[in-house]
Amino acid sequence: MSSPPVAIVTGASRGIGRAIAGQLAADGYAVVVNYLRNHDAAEQVVREIQQAGGSALAAAGNVGAAADRQRLIDTTLDRWHRLDVLVNNAGITSQGRRDLLEATEESWDLVFDTNLKGPFFLCQLAARKMIELIAAGVTSRGTLINISSISAYAASTNRADYCMAKAALQMMTWLLADRLAEQRIWVYEVCPGVIASDMTAPVREKYDRLIAEGLSPIRRWGQPEDVARAVSMLAAGSLSFSTGERLNVDGGFHIRRL
Ligand code: NAP
Repeated sequence: MSSPPVAIVTGASRGIGRAIAGQLAADGYAVVVNYLRNHDAAEQVVREIQQAGGSALAAAGNVGAAADRQRLIDTTLDRWHRLDVLVNNAGITSQGRRDLLEATEESWDLVFDTNLKGPFFLCQLAARKMIELIAAGVTSRGTLINISSISAYAASTNRADYCMAKAALQMMTWLLADRLAEQRIWVYEVCPGVIASDMTAPVREKYDRLIAEGLSPIRRWGQPEDVARAVSMLAAGSLSFSTGERLNVDGGFHIRRL
């Protein structure tokens, strides 16, 4: 029996990443559930996947730290000897949500390390490994999926670092897509709108009001599962003549309206 395809999902202990891990496990992937601090939550995600008949392992690691990124890849290969999909989902919002005139370098460094440097260098490590695995005939293709945000193009002056790091993910996706197409690695950006999670819990009332007023054509909160289904579709490889694409999962927020 051939081994199942393998996916790494960063930041999969909670929120959107957790839903992506569950969806990919249901799709038949063995899933590496990466997290930063919440060991118990990550183990719970693993247990749920195993109880449903899937395979998963929890792997602690800060995506902003080079040694942790390398360990994440090594742990995956040691356990399952293949890597098919990397989902760069781990992300944090601007620390303190300060106005840009008060924004700090501490927040900048943390946000850019987690939301941009980590994803780029994880893609680099994953792509090198995917190229080897494809050349060896272990796998036939690879997929890199980057979770950005509507903040990539919608300005929030109290989250400047977050907006800029998310905007850069689009160019990162294009660069990787261009470089890796010949190597049979497809690269996508998934761009969620307002999604119910711990990240948006502190601003729930603001978004309740904006959604009721028609922030997006589809007047509801997005759910982590909405994003997970988009990732599932991209990972499945049916869009074989498309790479570098941004897939909006935002209830139509991106449509300019008059
Ligand atoms: P969340 O509920 O706050 O969960 C964040 C996840 O990332 C947790 O699993 C956390 O692990 C992990 N994490 C944080 N820093 C990490 C690091 N340095 N290394 C590894 N893992 C780390 O966030 P979310 O709302 O699900 O957001 C997930 C992604 O979607 C982020 O990239 C976010 O920017 C993006 N997004 C969210 C929304 C939204 O409305 N929620 C909208 C657009 C885009 P621990 O549990 O261990 O802390």
